[in-house]
Amino acid sequence: MAVRVRIAPSPTGLLHIGTARTALFNWLFARHEGGEFRLRIENTDTSREVAEAVDQIQDSLRWLGLDWDGPHTFQLDRMDDCRRVADELLAAGKAYEDEGAIRFRMPEEGVTAWDDIVRGRIEYPNEKLEDVVIVRSDGRPTYNFASPMEDVWDGITHVIRGDDHIPNTPKQLNIIRAVGAEIPAYAHVPMIFGMDGKKLSKRHGADAVEEFRDAGYLPETMLNFLALLGWAPDGETTLIGRDELIQRFSLERVSSSPSQFDYQKLDWMNGVYLRELSPEEYAHRLLLWLGENGYDWDAELVTRAAPLVQEKIAKLSEFPGFAGFLFGNVEPDSADLDGGAPMLAAADAALASLEPFEATAIETALRAAADRLGLKPRQAFQPIRVAVTGSKVSPGLFESIELLGRETTLSRLRAAAGGAA
Ligand code: GLU
Repeated sequence: MAVRVRIAPSPTGLLHIGTARTALFNWLFARHEGGEFRLRIENTDTSREVAEAVDQIQDSLRWLGLDWDGPHTFQLDRMDDCRRVADELLAAGKAYEDEGAIRFRMPEEGVTAWDDIVRGRIEYPNEKLEDVVIVRSDGRPTYNFASPMEDVWDGITHVIRGDDHIPNTPKQLNIIRAVGAEIPAYAHVPMIFGMDGKKLSKRHGADAVEEFRDAGYLPETMLNFLALLGWAPDGETTLIGRDELIQRFSLERVSSSPSQFDYQKLDWMNGVYLRELSPEEYAHRLLLWLGENGYDWDAELVTRAAPLVQEKIAKLSEFPGFAGFLFGNVEPDSADLDGGAPMLAAADAALASLEPFEATAIETALRAAADRLGLKPRQAFQPIRVAVTGSKVSPGLFESIELLGRETTLSRLRAAAGGAA
């Protein structure tokens, strides 16, 4: 039988990175097995906030490349079906009314147990299981009722979800049994912690997919990084692409202990993926990112600047800080220009009528000018860099000057010379 899995996010905001990781495990499992991956929204209303959150969840999943099968479904659409089943349970004596609510009658003796694919055998003594409310007094079915019923109606074969749901599982299992349906397999995947051993949250840094996207991480980085949070194909692999993930993924290799979210490792990995892109693809990603983040910068200039930064930045969001001098005015700190006046004047003279105005020629001319002043290149180039890029850290100086063009370069050198001692 083909497998069918689902992710069931609550539409309460941006897609948390932990839910995205769980979605990824579900998706990898489905694709590896040639089965289906469903998207199910656990909504309790149909407000504008819910609609927005659903859009965001879908955007984030799409951005990661996690495609789902069939249309997404809404929990709210199944409320009537849930109430109908609750009535049947009442009629059969498997549930009872309690102050207007409906409670499910849990077995009183023995144990409820299942062989969790990740955790192994888990057992709960039935005397410890409370009779859960399945329909509230206002008529709304609860999560512990709607969720397993949806699993039944959707023909879910494997429930792969966070291990914070382990305590819910014996209750859901008994409900599924009571309606005479087949019990799915369960795989409870470990939580994601920060490096301090606490559950990953805002305190640690970005914790929603969209935030990582805005920060300039590539989807292939996130896919690789998330896959290794709680799963590993072996003890060594750190770089692994989408196709190989699908091919090698198995629930048996999901770890049962919490995984740690290492932001430094993520930066490192993103740098690796960024440097691997072809120059054209790199420029394309930069343009996409800039467009999404409100930068209306000249595409041709971005494309020409891309090779200057590709080796240097670990996140696309570093581009504006690093190469922004090509697209707007600069405000050099006069302290960084101290003592630079003679060199700024010499650079001005060297570049004013230089032909061709290209990196190699620019370098030769500036080195010669530094020589004539008896300055070491490092010493000489600092004020020039500060004058034209506004910063002591920049892409290659000569390439930057070429891209900036003669006119802008000269006017920046002159403006800075005015302010330099
Ligand atoms: N909305 C729940 C969550 O995001 C779904 C739990 C489940 O998969 O059953 O944790």
